[in-house]
Amino acid sequence: MKNFRILFVYLLLTGCISNPNLWGSEPPLNFTATPSIVETATSFLTQTITPSPTAILSPSPTAKVEDVLPEPTATPLSGEIKRVLIISYDGMRPDAIAAAPMDNLLELIKTSAYTLTNAITVAYPSTLPSHAAMLSGLCMAKNGIILDRYYKYMGYSKGVDIFDLAHAAGMRTVMVVSKDKLRQLAEPETTDVFEVRYGESAVSKEAVAQISQGFGLMFVHFAGADLRGHKYGWMSDAQFTVLREGDEALGNILTALDENGLRNSTLIIITADHGGHDRNHTGFVSEDFHIPWIASGPGIIPGEITALLQTMDTAATAAYALDLPQQADWDGIPVYEAFGKPRLKIHPESVQWPCHQWNDH
Ligand SMILES: [Zn+2]
Repeated sequence: MKNFRILFVYLLLTGCISNPNLWGSEPPLNFTATPSIVETATSFLTQTITPSPTAILSPSPTAKVEDVLPEPTATPLSGEIKRVLIISYDGMRPDAIAAAPMDNLLELIKTSAYTLTNAITVAYPSTLPSHAAMLSGLCMAKNGIILDRYYKYMGYSKGVDIFDLAHAAGMRTVMVVSKDKLRQLAEPETTDVFEVRYGESAVSKEAVAQISQGFGLMFVHFAGADLRGHKYGWMSDAQFTVLREGDEALGNILTALDENGLRNSTLIIITADHGGHDRNHTGFVSEDFHIPWIASGPGIIPGEITALLQTMDTAATAAYALDLPQQADWDGIPVYEAFGKPRLKIHPESVQWPCHQWNDH
């Protein structure tokens, strides 16, 4: 164990020191809470639906908070879910959606189950650990993705992830990503297609091409908000500009689903791996942890989700929607509320922190 820790610190100092996402000199497993996170976690513990003070939508001249709220009379799409599309905007804070504004996404939210205040990512809010938790249903220490850099000796994300399940069920599985390190998220054997594209329009172009071929599970990743955030700052005009490009890309993807007759049988989950502040997402403020979580599709009850969501719930919800088995060791829980179902399980108090290593439910 001691040797491992020495190796860990060595790797951080040698391999990641140039990485702007680094947690200082401490490895993420030594996560300690900052006061702002304590406040956030306290509100989660009591399961209140009061938005945390740091994740309130900022009204903008062109998109107000009330525009985001669905009509009370909105009814769910009828039909059966035959496929799941997970879209992750790297580094997109929930309050950036209205501030950018992302008009297509704001429109979609009106008919979605969503939360812009109650969803958080893992204890090390960075690209690889967060996405691995999102797709594996497991916390960092269980899936083994604890660094934000892909060292091949670490192998792929461990455990049974949603790509394992979908592929084993005979579904066509597709990943279109904007950072090649995301290869670590799933084994090549379980991803029929793995394409890396740079720039929001190139990603959406490839996603649209894949949609026309049909799929059972697709993961689409846009990197622009994270890249611009590191260069120009989170919530900067430059970041808003690329988010609007990502929103246009979403429009193209939705159009492709419509044109291929797939929209009414597809569950779409739109989320992010982490937020950010200033020019980083180091994990010392709550804005780094909050992520949006938006689900649209057949059987989804439009409206705001009140439960606490963890990013691992995305894999669990995808499995639930596709009628694939929940895994006993998963930390993720399906977002039953989005389907109008009672919460059969909630995250226990002992794990209502940004997770790094959880044990039992
Ligand atoms: Zn990221």
